Amino acid sequence: METKFWELKKNPEAAIGEAAELIRRGELVAFPTETVYGLGADGLNGTAVEKIFAAKGRPGDNPLILHIADTEQILPLTTGLSENARALMDTFWPGPLTIVVPRSEIIPDGVTAGLETVAVRMPSHPVAVALIRAAGCPIAAPSANVSGKPSPTNAQDVAEDMTGKIAGILDGGNCGIGVESTVVDTTSPVPTILRPGGITREMLEERLGVVEVDPALNGDPALRPKAPGMKYRHYAPKAPVYLYEGPRAADRLTEAAMRAQKQGMHIGVLCDDRVKARLEGSLRRGHTLEILSWGEGKPDLAEHLYELLRDFDRLAPEMIIGMGVDEKGLGLAVMNRLRKAAGYQILLAEEDRIAVRSGKDFPEFLLVPEE
Ligand code: AMP
Ligand code: MG
Repeated sequence: METKFWELKKNPEAAIGEAAELIRRGELVAFPTETVYGLGADGLNGTAVEKIFAAKGRPGDNPLILHIADTEQILPLTTGLSENARALMDTFWPGPLTIVVPRSEIIPDGVTAGLETVAVRMPSHPVAVALIRAAGCPIAAPSANVSGKPSPTNAQDVAEDMTGKIAGILDGGNCGIGVESTVVDTTSPVPTILRPGGITREMLEERLGVVEVDPALNGDPALRPKAPGMKYRHYAPKAPVYLYEGPRAADRLTEAAMRAQKQGMHIGVLCDDRVKARLEGSLRRGHTLEILSWGEGKPDLAEHLYELLRDFDRLAPEMIIGMGVDEKGLGLAVMNRLRKAAGYQILLAEEDRIAVRSGKDFPEFLLVPEE
């Protein structure tokens, strides 16, 4: 299949009109949102929805999010909204928040993977909003990556995964937030975060009071996540990833990187600007490390995480070592993704020792204390 690529610099209305026409005809179009790029289909057309699963290689038991452009558009999709659901819509839409509500009959089974609930979001990105309005239907859209790879946050990353498989790609530049939407179940008495994302736990609590977080999100393999998609090892780069967390994470990462360099290992280092500057100040020329920094704070990490994981795939180091951040604010979402990318191979860098937080068979050079 030929994949159209619209740059949107000149005449965006015409491009969005063409893309909407393809959606109405049951084809797939990738489009930018404020979180990551989505792979869209007419959400009320079961045949079109099936194409999403085929293009991504997505397991059929992982339901999709329906994207709408106006609040009233949710009414035909659900049999009723709880008070919590209405409060969240009023406060956080349009934006990076998905709510899970009871589904209505008009929704194809493919969208909900057979569940009695449906996930709905109203994005704020102007291209997403214009596309949904022009198509005149809710747009079912997961992230526009091949299943298992990091989500795309620019149109080139979408093209890498989807060229030849879908009808078109709308290029709206880089996504601002960079991690997927927060998914909140509004059908339970206490609203529950099923996937942390761009709207933080603190923001939800300020509006609703008590909010729970699905305990399965910590990576305990004995617990079954309530969002079916959260059980898959998403976001994984090709090389194995090892993480340091805790108060001395930056120091232990710096020392481990120096040791790897002495041994001539080809290693990826994922860190912030401070650690990168420190390493570059002490490394010899022609060193063997691939040091990629996300910038300064958590918003930078959220914005660049997936792009950096994809960059590591191109650089092909033998392994990647990185550092975590605390779980306040956006930290909950980024650490959820980063820990998954690491397959939960995590060391805790305490003040006076390195402990294993989870995982096993760590390379020796990550564990030795500095002589
Ligand atoms: P994606 O669109 O790839 O970002 O993934 C959507 C996320 O929402 C996945 O983790 C799904 O499992 C989750 N999700 C979608 N619909 C539901 C639902 N009805 N109940 C619980 N989780 C859902
Ligand atoms: Mg996804």
